[in-house]
Amino acid sequence: MINLFGLTLTQLQDLCLTEGFPKFTAKQICDWLYKKRVLSIDDMTNLSLKVRARLNEIAFIGRSFPVDCQTSKDGTKKYLFKVAEEAEHSSHQYVEAVMIPDADRATLCISCQRGCKMGCHFCVTGKQGFHGHLSAADILNQIFSIPESEMLTNVVYMGMGEPMDNYDNVLASTQVMTSGWGLAWSPHRITVSSVGITPMLKRFIEESECHVAVSLHNPYHQERLQLMPMEKTYPILSCLDMLKQYDWTGQRRISFEYTMFRGVNDDLGHAAELVRLFRGPNRTGHLFCRVNLIRFHESEGVDLHTSSQQTMEQFQKYLNDHGVICTIRASRGEDIMAACGLLAGQAEKTNK
Ligand code: SF4
Repeated sequence: MINLFGLTLTQLQDLCLTEGFPKFTAKQICDWLYKKRVLSIDDMTNLSLKVRARLNEIAFIGRSFPVDCQTSKDGTKKYLFKVAEEAEHSSHQYVEAVMIPDADRATLCISCQRGCKMGCHFCVTGKQGFHGHLSAADILNQIFSIPESEMLTNVVYMGMGEPMDNYDNVLASTQVMTSGWGLAWSPHRITVSSVGITPMLKRFIEESECHVAVSLHNPYHQERLQLMPMEKTYPILSCLDMLKQYDWTGQRRISFEYTMFRGVNDDLGHAAELVRLFRGPNRTGHLFCRVNLIRFHESEGVDLHTSSQQTMEQFQKYLNDHGVICTIRASRGEDIMAACGLLAGQAEKTNK
């Protein structure tokens, strides 16, 4: 059976061609799936009865609602999804999406893999290992199936998994979000993050218009290697060299995530080295970027600690004083453990 939800217009056109449906049927199906958000093929009332009957024989709409939700006192909500049937026999079937409401925004942080291969030392998901990619449908289902779906203003791919390690499905999901036949969002409402898998990130920059965020966390090779094993294969220096080849002064944004760990990466020497890394060729100008300092959510089994507010502010001031736009990201959902992977990890243990 084919899951219609998550398919691009081109994929639906191929399906319609194979089935001998009228040419315009693919566009009609897109409208029902992504604009009218129907959950049943029978509700696609402008398709002929014959087309609907055939679709019911070969296809379904793979939408599923969250199986759990935790709400923080600040309004942040962490949703737990059980993912598609190919994960049925796996011990790791759950992923998380976190909805962060703000004054005039509602941002959803979504997952793209069950677990992750990257093994970042500070990350709960990384410690769970890799258990599979999410399909484009499973990625999009997180966006479409929460109660606040139609209020969302932004989506960030910063939950469980490394987006550049599930490239095709992540790209297809952003195409559904941004195409006229899909949700028709501006790509500048979407940010896709990466630890810096340079060749895939380069491809993504060329094939998409979405904002890009790179998890940097330490400017020194040896120290970053301790935090993020992928530094060995894809050193941040090479990644920055690649990023500097593009113009970031328009509407599209490149940002760097910098989680601050007490006594590890939070002194002004690290700030100075960051400034140096962002310098352009011949020490002229800077990569036009923004650095987001992130408060670390301490968690069991991770021997790293949160930097103080004062240290974070000093670090921020140093970067701003040296021409690098830097913000401290407001900490949200502390009471529901917003660190990615925690709720899914617990669900695996209790087998919801
Ligand atoms: Fe994977 Fe992101 Fe966790 Fe690193 S921080 S292990 S890339 S989920």
